[in-house]
Amino acid sequence: MENNCPSAEKCPIFNGILSDKLTTSKSYRKQFCEAGEASWQTCKRLMTKTQYGKCPPELLPNSAMTVDEIGIKFNLK
Ligand code: SF4
Repeated sequence: MENNCPSAEKCPIFNGILSDKLTTSKSYRKQFCEAGEASWQTCKRLMTKTQYGKCPPELLPNSAMTVDEIGIKFNLK
């Protein structure tokens, strides 16, 4: 779907791999993944992938960390 994030196909959040957090996954999908470009552009997962070419599987779309802090914490730099 054209409103979906370009990373959706391989994203664990979009694909519901947070098995113990199904409701949370659904709400992230609504809030970010399926909400159009203006919304998925604010997703920390997508921002991290854009900046570093990869994203840690456990990172959440609404992480309070900045992309720089994520890069340091997960050693992506
Ligand atoms: S969680 Fe973020 S990176 Fe993953 S599909 Fe949704 S908007 Fe894209």
